[in-house]
Amino acid sequence: MSEAPHLTFDLDTPGVSLGHLVVPKGADCEALSLPVFSCNRGEGPSLLITGGNHGNELQGPIVARRLVEWLPEAQKCGRVIIVPEINPLAVQACTRNTPVDGKNLNRVFPGRPDGSISERIADAISRLLLPVVDNILDLHSFGPRWDCAPSIITHPIADVDLMTKTLRISEAFKLPVTLLWEHNDTAGMFDTWVHGQGKIFICTEFGGGDAHAEALTIYETGVRNGLIALGLVEGMAEYPMFRQQKSGQTLETNPSDQLKSPAQGIFEPRCSVVDEVKQGDLIGILHPMESLSADSIDIRAPTTSIVFAIRSAGYVQGNEEVAILARPLAP
Ligand SMILES: [Zn+2]
Repeated sequence: MSEAPHLTFDLDTPGVSLGHLVVPKGADCEALSLPVFSCNRGEGPSLLITGGNHGNELQGPIVARRLVEWLPEAQKCGRVIIVPEINPLAVQACTRNTPVDGKNLNRVFPGRPDGSISERIADAISRLLLPVVDNILDLHSFGPRWDCAPSIITHPIADVDLMTKTLRISEAFKLPVTLLWEHNDTAGMFDTWVHGQGKIFICTEFGGGDAHAEALTIYETGVRNGLIALGLVEGMAEYPMFRQQKSGQTLETNPSDQLKSPAQGIFEPRCSVVDEVKQGDLIGILHPMESLSADSIDIRAPTTSIVFAIRSAGYVQGNEEVAILARPLAP
């Protein structure tokens, strides 16, 4: 190993600093220099904002770069560190996983200093950035093949106090949905690693598809609301307008709420995100491509639910997820 991960500037420098987080080279690729913004206004809350964890979710890096423009003026206290693209190789390739090692950066935390490039990125973040903050905001979206409600999501946390605090701050982003997501595959997640340290981890899901201007404004408003709730900037938090409404709801979902495609074919969505569906309502239609005489297959809601995410129209394999349903969080 040629060098240790390092920052090209001192995070304790007062005021605004622009520099890089250097991830050392290894057997698989050269060193990476990730651009880092730091605004240190002394005493107060501390927050790390990361985007581009998955390279085909570009809403996060765009919102992070907008924050870099206005935070120097707006931030009154505390510390904010922003790394708009923590996985630049995946962003350049527009892939979920890192192209060099094929790994999902969000499943290799806390990383390894002598590991592959995804593991070295996770190690540099864990070692140099996490120790100086109490709150982490990781900006994700659902990727180009899905639509999802602009939302903050969190996974169930064993520590009841941390769970309560995390849900409260998540709701303060005032996005249309706050979602408690029970997930089967959490080993190595950035979230899980940070929760283990007793810190607040907030994850956005900024819709899906391409990043349109109107949607980006909704996401940016949500993050600004979160910064107000954390006490980092002043102002009035306000629900952004989404589908002619200014409101939010707190939902939960678990693995059995994922609807899978019964066969391969072209998926046609028949409902939209945040739609309320009753048992038996049509969610989507699957069109087999082999023959025009083959019947299409209706995919229906198994229970009364709210549509959290739905696949965009496209070809799907059998047993592939086509919708994620949710219901109001039980008190
Ligand atoms: Zn993601």
